[in-house]
Amino acid sequence: MSKRDYYETLGVSKGASADEIKKAYRKVAMQYHPDRNPGDKSAEEKFKEAAEAYEVLSDADKRAQYDRYGHAGLSGNGRGFNGGSMNMDDIFSQFGDIFGDDIFGSFFGGGRRGGGGGRARGVRGSNLRVKIKLNYEEIAKGVSKNIKVKKYVSCSTCSGSGAKDKNSVQTCSTCGGSGQVRRVSNTFLGQMQTVTTCPTCNGEGSIVTAKCTVCKGEGRVYGEETVTIDIPAGVQEGMQLSVGGRGNAGERGGPPGDLIILIEEEQHPELHRDGLNVAYELHISFADAVFGLQAEVPTIDGKAKIKIPPGTQSGKIFRLKGKGFPGVNTYERGDQLIHVNVWTPQHVTPEEKIILEKLNDSPNFQPKPDKNERSFFDKVREMFT
Ligand SMILES: [Zn+2]
Ligand SMILES: [Zn+2]
Repeated sequence: MSKRDYYETLGVSKGASADEIKKAYRKVAMQYHPDRNPGDKSAEEKFKEAAEAYEVLSDADKRAQYDRYGHAGLSGNGRGFNGGSMNMDDIFSQFGDIFGDDIFGSFFGGGRRGGGGGRARGVRGSNLRVKIKLNYEEIAKGVSKNIKVKKYVSCSTCSGSGAKDKNSVQTCSTCGGSGQVRRVSNTFLGQMQTVTTCPTCNGEGSIVTAKCTVCKGEGRVYGEETVTIDIPAGVQEGMQLSVGGRGNAGERGGPPGDLIILIEEEQHPELHRDGLNVAYELHISFADAVFGLQAEVPTIDGKAKIKIPPGTQSGKIFRLKGKGFPGVNTYERGDQLIHVNVWTPQHVTPEEKIILEKLNDSPNFQPKPDKNERSFFDKVREMFT
């Protein structure tokens, strides 16, 4: 089944404002909310679909990506988007932002995060951001990195529960372990039964009577973990990758946050990145330009030989096809552009001066650009296509 257009899912136009998108989502979410459509699978699907659409369209970066590339722009590996894989937990956790403190918030109940109405254990850990610096070769080939991350990890003494032992966890007597309390209230929509998080246990369904002494009841301790991150080829400065579940451990068994990797590029001493292409400035002597030479040039993966023909003019650009960067999630590959600079001596000895003056009188040394010498503007155009 092909995916529906996100704008269509929410019933808004492509140019809809953030506010319009939010309003439209509220409407659709209310209509298909599982509490209103118990056991209705197609309503649940629509509910999930709307949540996914909202997740993308409410985020300026993801929305821009979606506008440019459609669904394909969001599903790529390493891009950090989880299009299509939202679970009920994610969806209900969105509600705090969408429905705020108004009637809809209490109607849905902040504690109803367990998907099927189960209780929410603990508190979700926060996301962690780390920077990773990559050199050109690593970017060109993709790389697997082991990085040490300082963060909250689950307490091994109590297995994250925060309790001293099995006997120090008791079922909450206020909610009987469900984590929710029901209440009938009068609202402008009439009498409504609202389901809210149990205030006694904060929706966890149980109470810890004696805390683990190692983590002091938090269920997590500050520590360190080595995380292996597979970085796809072709990433660029500023890109972010998200590694699910590798952020801070949650409190008292709550789900972990994500680890967000921010890509930084290490400058290359000789090569310069321009999108997928790589530029290199080659300096050759005047005599080499006259006689031609076999030059060795650095590339993003080692060295390459290039033949500079006799009579090469300064400013000439040679192209090493496919020696640039690969794109992420495409088969595209850039080129390496070699820009020839003929070196003009800045100091000459009296003897050299005499030789040069003699050569300068020779007709071969007078500039005679022919029609094959493309203009400066043609070269610039070539360099950027
Ligand atoms: Zn309770
Ligand atoms: Zn502990």
